[in-house]
Amino acid sequence: MKIAVFSAKRYDREYLDAVNVAAGHTLKYHEAPLDLDTVHLAAGYAAVCIFVNDKADAEVLAQLKAGGTGLVALRCTGFNNVDLKAAAQLGLKVVRVTDYSPYSVAEHAVALLLAINRKIHRAYNRTRDSNFALDGLMGFDLHGKSVAVIGTGKIGRVFAKIMVGFGCNVIGYDKYPSEEFVALGGHYAVPGEIGRDADIVSLHAPLTPETYHIINADTIARAKRGALLINTSRGGLVDTEAVIEGLKSGQIGGFAADVYEQEAGIFFRDLSSVVVTDDVLQRLISFPNVIITGHQAFFTREAITTICETTLKSATEFAAGQPLTNEIAAGG
Ligand code: NAD
Repeated sequence: MKIAVFSAKRYDREYLDAVNVAAGHTLKYHEAPLDLDTVHLAAGYAAVCIFVNDKADAEVLAQLKAGGTGLVALRCTGFNNVDLKAAAQLGLKVVRVTDYSPYSVAEHAVALLLAINRKIHRAYNRTRDSNFALDGLMGFDLHGKSVAVIGTGKIGRVFAKIMVGFGCNVIGYDKYPSEEFVALGGHYAVPGEIGRDADIVSLHAPLTPETYHIINADTIARAKRGALLINTSRGGLVDTEAVIEGLKSGQIGGFAADVYEQEAGIFFRDLSSVVVTDDVLQRLISFPNVIITGHQAFFTREAITTICETTLKSATEFAAGQPLTNEIAAGG
C-alpha cells in the first residue's frame, strides 16, 4: 500500500525502512508536517502516517479523503491533533500506537525529576568550566516524599512503580481509577485534592478538553509551596504563563517538561542558528530551575522499533480489509 509519511526525520526513515523490508509497503517520506499547505502531497496515497504536531483537522481530513486517502496512521499515542469526529463523518479510519514502551516515557519523566531536583543540568555546566562549588545545587531526598501522578494509565503506572521503588508516597488522580495502580503501592486522592500535599506532581493524562490547562494559576496556588512539576504528557495540560508566575514567586520549586503547548514548528528542529521568537518558551528556558527537552521521552530504540512495527501492521490490516487492532473510535 502507498503511504505518505509526514514529519519524517532520518531516524523515522531508518526504522520504518528496516521494518518495511518484511511489510512491503511503498513509503514516501516528507520532512514537512501534514497541514493545509502540504496535504496535496498525500493525493493518491491510501494512507498517511503522521506524528504529534501534524495537523489533521476537519479541513485537512476532507482534502485527504478527496485525494483518495482512507487511513490516518498516527505513529504516536496521543491523538489530540486529529479531529476524530470529522474523520468518522468522512469515513476515514484513524489508528495510533497505544502500547509501544511506557518505560521510555516514564523513565524520561524520572530522568527529568532527578535532574531538576539534584540540579544535574547546572552541575554539568559548572564542572565543564572547572567550577566545583556546590552553592545552589542542593536538592532533597525523594525517599519519603509525596508524588502526585495525574493519569494512572500505562505510563503513569510505570512512573508510579519507579517512585514506589524510591520509597515515595504515591498519590494518583484519574477519572478511571485502576486496581493495578493500587496493587503496586499507590493510592487515590479525593478528586480536587491532587497536588495539595505533593512534593512532586507528574503529568500522565492525555490532552482532552477536560485536561486542558489542568495545571493553572488556581491549582498552582493550592499546591504545596516549592513542589516540582514534571510534564511528559502534552504541553496543553499546563498553562505555561501561570507556571512562569509560579516559578517567579517560588510557589513552583522547579519545572521539567518534555512537551510545550506551542511546540509545533519549534520542537524536532535545530533552531540553534536562528532567533526563536516564542517569548514564553524563551522566558521559561531562562530559569535556572527549568529543564526543557524537545519531546524526546518516547525516543528509545525499543519504542521506535515497536512504533514502526505497529504502524505498518495497521497499514497491512487496512490494505487487507481486516479489523484494525489499533483503531481509535470516534469518541476517542
Ligand atoms: P493511557 O491511556 O494508558 O493513560 C492515560 C490515563 O489518563 C488513563 O488512565 C485515563 O483514565 C487518564 N485520564 C483521562 N482523562 C483524565 C482526566 N480528565 N483526569 C485524570 N486522568 C485522566 O495513556 P499512556 O500510554 O499512559 O499515555 C499518557 C499520555 O502520555 C498520552 O496521552 C500522551 O499525551 C503522552 N505521551 C507522551 C510521550 C512523549 O514522548 N512525551 C510519548 C507517549 C505518550
